[in-house]
Amino acid sequence: VPAVDYDKLRSALSENGRLITDLADYEAYTHDATADSGTPGAIVFASNANDVRATVLFCHKHNLPIVPRGAGTGLSGGCVPSEGALVLSTEALDEIEIMPEEKIAVCGPGVITRDLIDGAEAVGLTYAPDPASYTESTLGGNVAENAGGLRCVKYGVTRDYVIGLQAITADGCTLDTGWFTERPAFELGELLIGSEGTLAIITSIAVSLVEPSGRGTTILAAFGEPSDAARTVFALRRAGLVPTVMEFMDGDAIDCSNAYEPTEGLHKAAALLLFETDPHHHDMERLIEGICSDNHCTLLRTEPDPNRAEDLWRVRRNLSKAITDMAALRVSEDVAVPISRFADLVAFVDQMNHSSHYRINAFGHAGDGNLHVSFLSEHDTSRDRENIDSLVETLMRKTIELDGTLTGEHGIGLAKRRLLPLEFDPPTLQFMRHIKDAFDPTGIMNPDKIFPV
Ligand SMILES: Cc1cc2nc3c(=O)[nH]c(=O)nc-3n(C[C@H](O)[C@H](O)[C@H](O)COP(=O)(O)OP(=O)(O)OC[C@H]3O[C@@H](n4cnc5c(N)ncnc54)[C@H](O)[C@@H]3O)c2cc1C
Repeated sequence: VPAVDYDKLRSALSENGRLITDLADYEAYTHDATADSGTPGAIVFASNANDVRATVLFCHKHNLPIVPRGAGTGLSGGCVPSEGALVLSTEALDEIEIMPEEKIAVCGPGVITRDLIDGAEAVGLTYAPDPASYTESTLGGNVAENAGGLRCVKYGVTRDYVIGLQAITADGCTLDTGWFTERPAFELGELLIGSEGTLAIITSIAVSLVEPSGRGTTILAAFGEPSDAARTVFALRRAGLVPTVMEFMDGDAIDCSNAYEPTEGLHKAAALLLFETDPHHHDMERLIEGICSDNHCTLLRTEPDPNRAEDLWRVRRNLSKAITDMAALRVSEDVAVPISRFADLVAFVDQMNHSSHYRINAFGHAGDGNLHVSFLSEHDTSRDRENIDSLVETLMRKTIELDGTLTGEHGIGLAKRRLLPLEFDPPTLQFMRHIKDAFDPTGIMNPDKIFPV
């Protein structure tokens, strides 16, 4: 990273834009929610798209790496700065304009996901993607990671709701895509979704809103074996049932949750499934309970009152934090497999846990075949990190063997880039690099992410 005199950038920012070079109080900006970290040279808090453009042009001129950042809740190291890089925070671009008649919202990338959901609900609509981090994560981060969430089994993921993007490329060019422009020949917005901040800085996001379907009944089903719960998930999907939510958690994940915040009615079990039924499908509750029983569930609890069910959903939303609290080192993976192979994956993780001296647990948006596998260590030494890296690789190889993917929703970032060749052959990786080069010829946009070194 070159030595940089930031004065010119400071004077190019608008009145509310901020440039920070004394980073003592900004430790949070050295990492995301993973165990990786790096020390930036400076942080810019942009207050509008002009600040973003001024910052990008400055970095372009000085060949300075630039790392876009939302709320820093990422789970793949996507906004972890390379040493000396400039972190560009879009948190303050948080305006929401809702057009109820069109069922569209136009948002700054810094809008917190829950604020968009609340704003849409205030006019009788909703925004469907709801990552478990929705009280903190930003829409810019959601788009850059193509975030999923609890309701995504029924409603789809972020990509299914983005109808247009505005973004600024590494050389300061503004891209208008989708809703923001006439019908283009190439839909460049599609490339930006899930690009993890490596192609351009997203400055505005148009999303579609939907009619809320209302809250269904919450069902908790406990199982004596994790693979019984996993088989239930497949049996339900094969029967054509699509609940609004279908979440899996294994026994150790449940223990972590109870240790973090004891919850009445959260039963000790080898695995739990947590469902919310589709309120428009009147027989769904009975059908789910029947399939759970056929697959040896040991306990069923039904909670029709959404307020009382909220305790159970809080457990699910807290899980990631609860597990992080349990260990000095947590490495979290988010593999996904076709739903017909979900039981094989769950059984494999269970067996890994039993044969390893590290604590390994799993939970996830089961209805989508997503499994979040956490590797926990009581100590954070380089030896532990190496050992866990090797366990992670074993998990990834198995996932690919099951026709799955390295990441269901958290992205590749820093954490998984060394493993990307397991999923993509060299010509495909090379093609992706050509696309990166077209957006970012000098390679300043979130370098060190996605592509293997
Ligand atoms: C407790 C917990 C629960 C979670 N649950 C889920 C879940 O259910 N589903 C899910 O998908 N994820 C989940 N996550 C992961 C994370 O919340 C998501 O990936 C989220 O989308 C990240 O948003 P963020 O604003 O925190 O982004 P950040 O972590 O700040 O950044 C993530 C990536 O987006 C890029 N980026 C951010 N803003 C911009 C921008 N304006 N322009 C271009 N690139 C940008 C960054 O460079 C980085 O690569 C969870 C995380 C935690 C801690």
